[in-house]
Amino acid sequence: MAITVVGSVAFDTIETPAGRRERCLGGAATYFALAASYFTDVRVIAVVGEDFGAPEEKVFTSRGIDMRGIERATGKSFFWEGSYLENLNEAKTHNTELNVFGSFQPKIPDAYRDSEFLFLANIDPVLQRRVREAMPQARLVAGDTMNYWIKDHRASLLEVLKGLDVLLINDTETRMLAGNSNLVKAARAVLDLGPRMLVVKHGEYGATVFHRADHEAGAKTFRAPALPLEEVIDPTGAGDSFAGGFFGYLASQPALTPATFRRAMFYGSVMGSFTVERFGTERLQLLSRDEIDNRFALFRELTHLD
Ligand code: AMP
Repeated sequence: MAITVVGSVAFDTIETPAGRRERCLGGAATYFALAASYFTDVRVIAVVGEDFGAPEEKVFTSRGIDMRGIERATGKSFFWEGSYLENLNEAKTHNTELNVFGSFQPKIPDAYRDSEFLFLANIDPVLQRRVREAMPQARLVAGDTMNYWIKDHRASLLEVLKGLDVLLINDTETRMLAGNSNLVKAARAVLDLGPRMLVVKHGEYGATVFHRADHEAGAKTFRAPALPLEEVIDPTGAGDSFAGGFFGYLASQPALTPATFRRAMFYGSVMGSFTVERFGTERLQLLSRDEIDNRFALFRELTHLD
């Protein structure tokens, strides 16, 4: 089952306690697509500028990712600069340049229209909504957002939330969106805004899925751990990689049962744990399905009680 993803394809400048990288390939849709590509076919909708060249293109094509929906525009690609010097769990944004994303009008290739899975990665909620409306056939729609859109673009974000099956955000964003500092109450308030499932990402502490009581009979709140790692090189993209592993696994399964969703939470954690081991997308580009399955087994061991 194919996934279409819309979101940023970017250049990132990143500083962490392990070092600094200038203008490496990043973007929420990039991390998501790479992670999901180990499970299923992935199609990307985005825009890039003239600075996006053959080496960047190869990162996508060598994973078999469909780039027909990546438009090339005159100007520079989306640029983000952030650091994690005080807290590895939360990026401090120093600079965001929308560049070609500022005037982006998403065009959906006809070949994408049969995608049953749609992921609205972090980008202007106006664009997320436009893509959602243009793809009414999508059977499962998930999305992400960030503090910037929650604070300053709330009205359009609320429209997006009404059309989502699954929202994946971190704990700070959950509390901010709900205006409640208790995570469980905040999760309930967020579920009242539309999504029937909320996946709250806790960075190095894993992720929790909450279900709307009226929708998921028998589906219980469930937490997947994160792998305790001795060294985190660069947390950038961990959340998007989690989403890619989570959604990619779901799209690869014949039926979406509560057990499938629980396993998807583990595959999300697995993909996030790989991403942080190197700068940017370095680690995600070179994985094998064996490595992924071995790490999944490690996660099972980590949490198995008897
Ligand atoms: P994550 O660490 O998973 O939350 O996502 C990191 C990625 O998000 C980076 O590669 C950035 O290029 C991208 N990003 C940062 N700010 C924005 C924004 N305002 N809109 C879209 N993407 C962004």
